Amino acid sequence: MIRLQTATEMREWSQLQHASGKRIGFVPTMGFLHEGHLTLVDIAAEQSDLVVVSIFVNPTQFGPNEDFDKYPRDMEGDLAKLEARGVVAVYLPEISSMYPDGYATYVAVERLGDHLCGASRPNHFRGVTTVVTKLFHAVHPDVAVFGQKDAQQAAIIKRMTIDLDFGTEIILGPILREKDGLAMSSRNVRLSDVHRAQAPALQRGLKSAWKLYNAGVRSATDLKREVETTLKQDAPDGRVDYIEIVDLDQLQPVATIDVPALLAIAVFFGDVRLIDNVELV
Ligand code: AMP
Repeated sequence: MIRLQTATEMREWSQLQHASGKRIGFVPTMGFLHEGHLTLVDIAAEQSDLVVVSIFVNPTQFGPNEDFDKYPRDMEGDLAKLEARGVVAVYLPEISSMYPDGYATYVAVERLGDHLCGASRPNHFRGVTTVVTKLFHAVHPDVAVFGQKDAQQAAIIKRMTIDLDFGTEIILGPILREKDGLAMSSRNVRLSDVHRAQAPALQRGLKSAWKLYNAGVRSATDLKREVETTLKQDAPDGRVDYIEIVDLDQLQPVATIDVPALLAIAVFFGDVRLIDNVELV
């Protein structure tokens, strides 16, 4: 597995692979890898000849009071997992080469970031779209795989690649979960034992709302109340950031679910913020 550190090195490697007719699959990550990430690697491998994974904890997508400094890191462990999974190249850029002195350019997708995580994390998606643009310019992937766990992020990146003619196909991978239903996340290790025990309530709440939806309930208020009730009962220490239902196309809140929709939630346990979602289609 080759390690590439600068955009120039990465780009030159990709150009060589493309010149020999290889199709490049790409999975961008912030590291501290779990099975959710590795499943995206497997999907990328099915869709390409060579898989590149980037590990970069991107400072521009963290707010000033967020957990950039506390974000878990384990570079050697990550590299071993990727090598075992057949990854051919890892891109490990330095912060100073990604954002050198004088850096001033950002990419922003309008409208799709107005609600959900975009509302509670100002500038978060601007940081994501900017770093994904920079990573794509270095890696030149034919296909890139993102997780449904970050559904709003995936929708925004899809929009960006279409709007800005990236020519990279975006594929989504399913949400991988722990045995008790908690969506896998690098941040789960930061939960206290008590909070870890309460955290599966996120998926339980989504599931019970989904059951109501399946039984014919179409009122967003009623479905959101169902999630709220479950969280109050099963996760008393959780502080709800949002429980929202938006249409899948524009990610705008809907009152009645008469179009394909996304039920998405974010809950704080202490300073650890967890997200989860389910499609209502
Ligand atoms: P991150 O390292 O958190 O930036 O995530 C990198 C990629 O992995 C993103 O596309 C995430 O949506 C995806 N991802 C994170 N957690 C999961 C999960 N539990 N299941 C599937 N994909 C995930």
